[in-house]
Amino acid sequence: MSLTMNEIILLKLGELVLKGLNRRSFEDKLIGNARRRLKPFGAFRVYTKQSTLYVEPKEDSCDMDGAWEAMKRLFGVVGLSRARACEKDKDALLETARIYLDDRLRTAKTFKVESKRADKSFPMTSIQLSQYVGGELHEAYPNLTVDVHHPELTVYLEVRDYAAYVHADPEPGAGGLPVGIGGRAVSLLSGGIDSPVASWMIAKRGIALEMVHFFSYPYTSEEAKHKVLDLARLLTPWCGNLIVHVVPFTAIQEELRRKCPEELFTVLMRRFMMRIAEKVAQRIGAGAIVTGECLGQVASQTMEAMRATSAVTTLPILRPVVGMDKEEIVRIARKINTFETSILPYEDCCTVFTPRHPRLRPVLGELEAAEAALDVEGLVQAAVEGIERIRV
Ligand code: ATP
Ligand code: MG
Repeated sequence: MSLTMNEIILLKLGELVLKGLNRRSFEDKLIGNARRRLKPFGAFRVYTKQSTLYVEPKEDSCDMDGAWEAMKRLFGVVGLSRARACEKDKDALLETARIYLDDRLRTAKTFKVESKRADKSFPMTSIQLSQYVGGELHEAYPNLTVDVHHPELTVYLEVRDYAAYVHADPEPGAGGLPVGIGGRAVSLLSGGIDSPVASWMIAKRGIALEMVHFFSYPYTSEEAKHKVLDLARLLTPWCGNLIVHVVPFTAIQEELRRKCPEELFTVLMRRFMMRIAEKVAQRIGAGAIVTGECLGQVASQTMEAMRATSAVTTLPILRPVVGMDKEEIVRIARKINTFETSILPYEDCCTVFTPRHPRLRPVLGELEAAEAALDVEGLVQAAVEGIERIRV
């Protein structure tokens, strides 16, 4: 066996049974998502057994490091480890542990060996195997003492149908639920810090997303649009491939500026965003709208403004960062690698016509009166017809 084919990835499944979710559909969704994510890294065999998902390379050319990084971003996985395969023999297992985990065996102070035996024809019990390999490792590494309760390193030995495997403690996985298991939502993606984080948080809860971006050409540039597409692309390792619906928004903004009171501009604009998002949601069968709104962050993010924007749609509006401080949002943005792109200095459609004194507590009646001067349906219709769909 070659080196690559000797190694596999074991993924521990997340919080499935607890939530009363159907185990079968959880696993099927996860396997499907894993297969799609693994495609760029070669041909793999992917299957589940006993709450574990196995990722096995089928050929030598498989990129195991790439696959490992991809699997670390797979929602629905609580922990993962790389394991080395070997013959189903006690000394082969010992040798493999010594070679594969040498670094960790050298540096750890305490350890234990834990064995699992799916192949009941293996001539030793799990306890006997652990005792044998543990004893030999103890002798080979004088730095180690055995601690069965809180060891720094656990050496796992698994004797399965076709081979035996050695691995160390799993690393934390991405958590959450497999994308798609909770249905679909549209996420309003601006070029800012908050909306990519909000999207990531909702995808993490098992929701498949399509993005909606409002584009105000020529007030906002092609670069601003590319920045948003880049942000969407940065989310794909977690969310899978994404469709970005780019909505032409200039006509609506110009009409609002022409016909409506300046201090209501932002809230009126956001009501249009929600109406258009709802249309996209209907078209793609989405059950909610996601935004990166956060209480108190800016004038349009008061409770009253949120009420006013929510009033134009019956869909639930999911605002996962609503109660977070900026630093908390930034921490996630850095973790998911969107921060550096989000802070690139391109203007957003919201910053183009910012009123000098936005109304903090808009009243619904007043907004509806302002909208009476507009052909709301016609404007929404025209924007929806002008949508450009981009797959990233
Ligand atoms: P962000 O950092 O996500 O841009 P923000 O703090 O700048 O958020 P706003 O500009 O008030 O806040 O926008 C609030 C939310 O409205 C955004 O998080 C996003 O979901 C949505 N939004 C704003 N502008 C756009 C846009 N041009 N296209 C799509 N969605 C937008
Ligand atoms: Mg913004």
